[in-house]
Amino acid sequence: MKPNHISIDNLQINKVTDDILLVHQINTPSHFSCSDGLLILPKEGRNSRAIALDINIEPEYIAAINKTFGPISDYINTHGHMDHIAHVYAWEQLGTTIHAPEPEAKCLTSLYQFYEGFDWQEMNNFSLIEQFAELNKYQKCQKVFPFQPGDKLRFEDLILDTIPFTGHSISHIGFLLPSEKILHVSCLGFDQSHPGVDGFGPWYGFKQCSILKYVNDIDLAESIFLEKAHFLTSSHAYIVKKSDTTPFEYMRNKLNKNQWIVDQGLKTMDSHMGLEEKISELLKKDLFFPKKKMKGFLFDIYSFWESWIIRHHIERNESLKNNKAV
Ligand SMILES: [Zn+2]
Repeated sequence: MKPNHISIDNLQINKVTDDILLVHQINTPSHFSCSDGLLILPKEGRNSRAIALDINIEPEYIAAINKTFGPISDYINTHGHMDHIAHVYAWEQLGTTIHAPEPEAKCLTSLYQFYEGFDWQEMNNFSLIEQFAELNKYQKCQKVFPFQPGDKLRFEDLILDTIPFTGHSISHIGFLLPSEKILHVSCLGFDQSHPGVDGFGPWYGFKQCSILKYVNDIDLAESIFLEKAHFLTSSHAYIVKKSDTTPFEYMRNKLNKNQWIVDQGLKTMDSHMGLEEKISELLKKDLFFPKKKMKGFLFDIYSFWESWIIRHHIERNESLKNNKAV
């Protein structure tokens, strides 16, 4: 069926090229339940069956995509965060083979691995994660085929380069489709739903995230885009065309602005305070998330994320100072 005529309620399906679509679920159960991804339609001499890249949407929409464009032979996940794992089981139930990068591939088959893998146990107990999973309608997959970030994947004659962007998460990958000239940067941090609309930007609310790596990842993504791609897509944003550097400027500005926010907060504090005390005082200021309005497990989850965001900025600040001293 020609994608020009496809309309599925609550899905926004945009053509990146004639046979590659960006799929977006419009209304979602929560902020962390879904992610946009690419649907690679069959093309003679390339792939005889459709392939899905990181389209984590609710089961009824997966069924609708499968009915319209299926069967979908393979699904490739980009990392183990909740908005990328919650509904993947529904693809598997339709007969699609699931692939995911190590080590976070384990989050797809076990909620407990999601809990331990991101060190939630340092601040929260497992029942909190069970509530978070229920909110996002997470269900586990039965079998996932792991690969290493950086591997080149091949499905018939379709080549997919996986690119480690590990500032966001240790398994986190983007995709370069060399023959199609598409760079998918996944959750790198370009999250403008439309040109000019503001979002959160790069996200680093876990122990495993790194702002220093993020800075390098953004540079790497920019050079790949400028040298090898005509289109840039993401997990939560519009399609960017050749040579437009908006995503990279946006992400760098967000990192710098967040650093400024934390630095301003620190200025109001006694410099002799210990790191843990500084973090707990800054958390009370709701610098990044409106936690005062939150109740129950969501308050705990956002506090956990924000504590890591603040800690990463303080540590970055310290390492910059030390480098200057040297
Ligand atoms: Zn993520």
